[in-house]
Amino acid sequence: MSQHRPHRLSDFVADLSALLDRAGDEAVILREGGALLAELVAQDDWLPEAQSLPDPTRYQQYLLHREPAARFSVVSFVWGPGQATPVHDHTVWGLIGVLRGAELSQAYERTNGALKAVGRVHRLEPGQVEAVSPTVGDIHRVANAFDDRTSISIHVYGADIGTVKRSTYDADGKPKTFISGYADVPPPLLFDRASALAYGAAE
Ligand code: FE
Repeated sequence: MSQHRPHRLSDFVADLSALLDRAGDEAVILREGGALLAELVAQDDWLPEAQSLPDPTRYQQYLLHREPAARFSVVSFVWGPGQATPVHDHTVWGLIGVLRGAELSQAYERTNGALKAVGRVHRLEPGQVEAVSPTVGDIHRVANAFDDRTSISIHVYGADIGTVKRSTYDADGKPKTFISGYADVPPPLLFDRASALAYGAAE
């Protein structure tokens, strides 16, 4: 890797902050925020090594930035070989951009409680970005496209995502509450007692 350029992340955070200051409309945030994220993940020379390390037992979510007002958070999502999420939702807008390796994504929708795949599994390559939200489609399952190497994607959400109560879904579409937390933030710094009970169930 060439010279390390950590300013790319702080530039992205400043640009996204400015966007949220002027735009409240989700479609605008997803379109313009998606373009900013595409710019960020177009160069793989800024992510600190500590937030790029896979874990052999499960995929990792490292907190890169969280606004004090929790308008948004930025996470590096690090996949070990072959790792995948359960089917899950987000409940807030989210943008996913692949930085390294590749990711496989399958969208789902829930009708009358039943879970149905929407479209095909698609593959995101480095530099590509996709969006999720309750408006544009919020349920998916994501996996590392490789079974022999690490992949990394950068996720941006319209909340402090590690503290958001959301759901995973079993094959029948039955939801189960979970709160993801962050690999590098100890749960006592994130949660009240009740929330801690739902912590770590899945993604
Ligand atoms: Fe997701």
